[in-house]
This record gives sequence, structure tokens and C-alpha cells, in this order.
Amino acid sequence: MRISFHGAARSVTGSRHLIEANGQRILLDCGLFQGRREEADRKNREFGFDPAELDAVILSHAHIDHSGALPALIKHGFKGTVHTTLATADLASHMLRDSGFLQEKDAEFATKRDQRRGKRVPPREPLYTVEDAENALHQFEARSYYRRFYVAPGIHATFHDAGHILGSAIVEIEIEENGQKRSVVFSGDLGRKRLPIIRDPDQVETPDIVIMETTYGDRDHSPIQEAAGQLAAIIKKLCDRRGKLIIPAFAVGRTQEIVHTLSQLWSDGQIPHLPIFIDSPLAVNATEVFHRHPECFDAETRALLRDDGDPFGLHKMHYVRSNEESRSLNDREGPFVIISASGMAEGGRVLHHLRNSISDPKNGILFVGYQAEHTLGRRILSGEPEVNIFGEPHEVRAEIFVMNEFSAHADRNELLSWLNGNKGRPRDIFLVHGEEAQALAFADRLEHEGFIAPHVPTMHETIALGGSHPRKQR
Ligand SMILES: [Zn+2]
Repeated sequence: MRISFHGAARSVTGSRHLIEANGQRILLDCGLFQGRREEADRKNREFGFDPAELDAVILSHAHIDHSGALPALIKHGFKGTVHTTLATADLASHMLRDSGFLQEKDAEFATKRDQRRGKRVPPREPLYTVEDAENALHQFEARSYYRRFYVAPGIHATFHDAGHILGSAIVEIEIEENGQKRSVVFSGDLGRKRLPIIRDPDQVETPDIVIMETTYGDRDHSPIQEAAGQLAAIIKKLCDRRGKLIIPAFAVGRTQEIVHTLSQLWSDGQIPHLPIFIDSPLAVNATEVFHRHPECFDAETRALLRDDGDPFGLHKMHYVRSNEESRSLNDREGPFVIISASGMAEGGRVLHHLRNSISDPKNGILFVGYQAEHTLGRRILSGEPEVNIFGEPHEVRAEIFVMNEFSAHADRNELLSWLNGNKGRPRDIFLVHGEEAQALAFADRLEHEGFIAPHVPTMHETIALGGSHPRKQR
């Protein structure tokens, strides 16, 4: 058996891990790389393996850094099944189409720029189109949680709840090879206990091999119970000075959590009834998907759905679909709140809201999620006095707020307690989906706690796992 790591290796985007066992090739996740544009584009076009030779893909969840390269994989010859949970399949159908649309726009933009610069090069080819994304959906097979399913000869899998976003899964894989049985558990992105809407992460049994995320492997979040109060305080501050609050947020997951919290603060009279705009067609579609999957909700949200039927504030917030309506927000006087994608301010409508608001000290920008290296979000957050938006420099004068309480990722202690909560200790641990410093810090912590020395793989590294499981060096 071999495992190779073709993304989210000492970085957080492009999740792609390949298991080769019993003559089969199974890919865990097929995510898009994000970050520096040219570099991400190049990585997105190189898989490091032949898509046509894969037997199946298992998808942990719908976030684009885990699912977004699937249409490209299929375009390049992958013919097998993509296994997901029911809610992930539903979310992915919106997210991949949206991503195809953005890929087409990116290619158009790059082609125009080439022409402006007088380059004599052929038009840029999008990574994939909306049509490619629609084709990819035909290869999806949706599965319920906790039902063991067949993947390939000698390979079965089961989805457990990862508590990260709607439909997110911890993937348990059972492998039978040469009469030997082994289990691999892939954490996917691991959520936090008590996140709004969704259930807490499940524990699993006695994995031999664990592949786990380490996004926040070197730090702890403040308690989630403090989130609502902090959010209320920020909103009141912005209301007092009649400013705008821009919240860049992933259209799927984070947006619904924030909206759910705002909706409760509003009902409880803890914030003024100011206009709140959810400006992302994808967020609108995703919210509809949330409504269709109450089987993924925690007990509190199910009760709320029964009692007032509106856990996502559909009657209190303004959901913005059209471009015209989105643009009309530019001229509007504060105070008001705009929640808009993308979460790392790498694209999407949030860019024009930032361009319009970032240089006025009355306004605020609230970051609620992880900002990867080389993204606009990270540059603003790290205190750069001036940033480029749509190729133009803008002074950063708005007040910058950060709340990690809404993070859909477990922090250092939560990662550790998940690993400790599983029955039995793994014989091999691979740490992925964390920048190098976070992954290495968490590896040290695990060793300190008495776990077998974890391995932090590098991009395209292949590890052969023999019967004896030798300890590996970092
Ligand atoms: Zn995720």
C-alpha cells in the first residue's frame, strides 16, 4: 500500500491524497489550489498522477479547496465514481458550476490582459467551464452517513460527520490487501464542537493510519460561546459611527453560521435592526440546500426550525442575487452589514465592496475565517497600509476585526482531543492541510503527547506502507 500527497501538503489548499492498495487507486478529495494566481493556476493544471488511471474519488466535503478540481480531473480522463454524502453532492452541484463560471471569467480576463500588453499568444484556456462542471456531476454517487459502501475491489468506506460544514465527512476506509486488513481514517476538515447549525465531529474506531488536517495546529480559538457577544459589540460600534461592516465569508458554511448568529442577536434585541445584505448568489443557493438537509442539523437548529421555521434569517436579511442590486450597495449610506464571498477576498463580489469601503476609517472589515498565504485577506489582516484591488492601490484605513470563534476548523486542543477520543492509537499519522509551521508544531505536540512520530509530507511525496510500519522521519 502507498499513499502520496498531491496538494494541501505543508499548505492549506488543493487537498488531494492518493491511496494505492490492492491494485486500486483511490483519490481522497480533488481540491483547487488558491493563492498567488499564476502559481495556483499552474498547480491546478498538474495532478502528479494520471486521472485516467484512478478507480474512484472520495470527497470529504464541498469546499472548493477540496472539490474544485474534480471537473478538471474528469476532463482529463477520470471515468470512475465520485463518492460523497447527500448534502455534499447537493452543495457541490452549485459550487462547481459557480467555480466553472469563475474559471471562464478568469481566462477571459487573462486573455484581455495579454492582448492589452500586445502579447501574441493564443487565448487562455479556462481550467474548466460551467459545462465541464455539469458533466462532472453525472459521476457523483451520494451516500448516507454511517452506511458502509463499496469503493473498489478490497476497498470499502464509511462517512462519519466531520462537523465542519453541511455534509462534511470524516472518511473511514477499510482496505483488504494480500489477506491483511487495514483501516485509514481521513479527517477531512475537522469542525469544532458547538458550531451553529451542524452536529459535532464524530469519533471513530481504531484506525491504523490517520491522515489529518492541521489548519490551526499551533493555536487555540476563544470559546465559541463568546462569538455572539463579540459580533454584537462590533456591530454596535459600526452603527454608532454609521459605518459599513464588510464580512468576507465562504458562501457555504461560514455565511450561514454568521447569518444564524445575527438572526438570533436580532431576535433577542442585542443588535439594532440594521440592514444586513447577503451578497452572493452562491450563498443564496447554498442556504436553500441547507433547508433541504435537516438530517445534518444539530438538535438546537432542528428545534429552531420547528419553532420559528427561519434559522437562516430569510425574513430578516436581504439576499442579493443580481449584479445591479449588488452594485447599488456601493452608493448606500451606512450603517449596514454586507456578508459576501470569497472568504479570503480572492475574488467574487466582496472585492468591489472592499474597494469601496477600505479607505474610509468609519467602516470595518471583519475576518471570520482562515486567510491563506498570498491572498488579499491575508495582506489586509497582516496590516499592509496599502493593498491592490482590481489592479489599483487602495489605502487601508477601515478598522480591521478578526474573530476566529466562527472558524469551522478545530483548534490545536480540539484536534488533539479528537485524536485522543478515537478508540485505539494509530500506527501512522500523516499531517496535512496546514501551513508548514502549523503542521510541524502540531507534529511536535503529538510526539510530546506520546503518539508515534507523525509525518508531515511534502508536495508529491509518496510513502510506502509495508506490513511492519517503520517509523518515519520528519
Ligand atoms: Zn473546508
